[in-house]
Amino acid sequence: MSTNDASLKIPATLIEGDGVGPEIMDAAIRVLDALGAPFEWHPCKAGMAGVKDSGDPLPPAALDSIRKTGLALKGPLETPVGGGYRSSNVRLREEFHLYANVRPALTLVPGGRYDNIDLVTIRENLEGMYVGFEHYIPIGDDEHAVAIGSGVNTRAGCLRIAKFAYDYAVNNGRKKVTIVHKANILKALTGLFRDTAKEVGRLYEGRVATEERIVDACAMQLVLNPWQFDVIVTTNLFGDILSDEVAGLVGGLGMAPGGNIGDGAAIFEAVHGSAPDIAGKGIANPLALILASAMMLSHVGRPDLAARLRKAINQTLNEDSVRTKDVGGTASTREFADALIRRVLQAVA
Ligand code: NAD
Repeated sequence: MSTNDASLKIPATLIEGDGVGPEIMDAAIRVLDALGAPFEWHPCKAGMAGVKDSGDPLPPAALDSIRKTGLALKGPLETPVGGGYRSSNVRLREEFHLYANVRPALTLVPGGRYDNIDLVTIRENLEGMYVGFEHYIPIGDDEHAVAIGSGVNTRAGCLRIAKFAYDYAVNNGRKKVTIVHKANILKALTGLFRDTAKEVGRLYEGRVATEERIVDACAMQLVLNPWQFDVIVTTNLFGDILSDEVAGLVGGLGMAPGGNIGDGAAIFEAVHGSAPDIAGKGIANPLALILASAMMLSHVGRPDLAARLRKAINQTLNEDSVRTKDVGGTASTREFADALIRRVLQAVA
């Protein structure tokens, strides 16, 4: 989709989210406004905010809005641990068939524990252990004596995500895809994923190299030598875990954006959750969500604005040395956004 017409507005659903969500979303929207981003926002509630507003963690108004716009910027949504309602994030991915979760990790602040990290985790987003097929078997008076969970991978789902990962590599100048699995133990569930992804890899031979790793070895190698990785493609649960690990390589969750992509819709978000421990304190790093909005700009055919935003981010972090606490600075969420807006406006002027 190309929308390089300044007068054209792109309708997009806006979900502030829970916890730090409203704080970081306010920062992101102010930055996008300064940039002249072409979005026409349709605000909706979901998660705990949806429960408080209408008793529903995924209200029909939010679903209808995304059905119409096919595009959303979303803050983190709280999910109760253990019991309670099912994750609204998982339901959104299912509802809109957002089968690919793209999580780029790029070093933005040099001099950390790891420098020059530039890798992308592509996580299958609809299958695997996330399908939520779980139950308990009671024994005697213990209702929860046994817990059983099943994963589901389909050949079609594995084909789709593998093809997405290789196409992503080709379209983004990437050289290698590493297929990550646990096919030595989960021979059927992740064996199907591995075998299918390798078949797809053969179609890209000469353009994109293929490697494979067992997930535990991959987790260790990401700590020892992350530079060997380029694009990682993996199943839902492994992708969930590894992408948080990868976020740690570039300064933590405050620096990690993600896009949930399907054929008919896309939802962009920070990888992190609602951060209840710092919510309301005004100190959350808004960068993950702002970087997610840069991904969103590229997605709608405005890589020019995305590049301008990334340049302003680099200047703010590294020339002005304005950073939030989680990446070694002292700026509040608002101070960081103000500094970034100054740089964005300079770039626009
Ligand atoms: P979390 O990501 O919210 O927080 C983990 C740690 O990272 C905390 O110490 C937090 O303060 C810190 N952190 C997170 N974002 C930060 C930011 N922007 N700036 C600075 N520090 C930041 O993970 P959690 O505590 O396990 O989860 C809290 C809630 O969020 C749960 O209900 C969970 O289900 C939900 N969650 C939602 C999403 C999503 O909406 N995509 C993703 C993950 C977790």
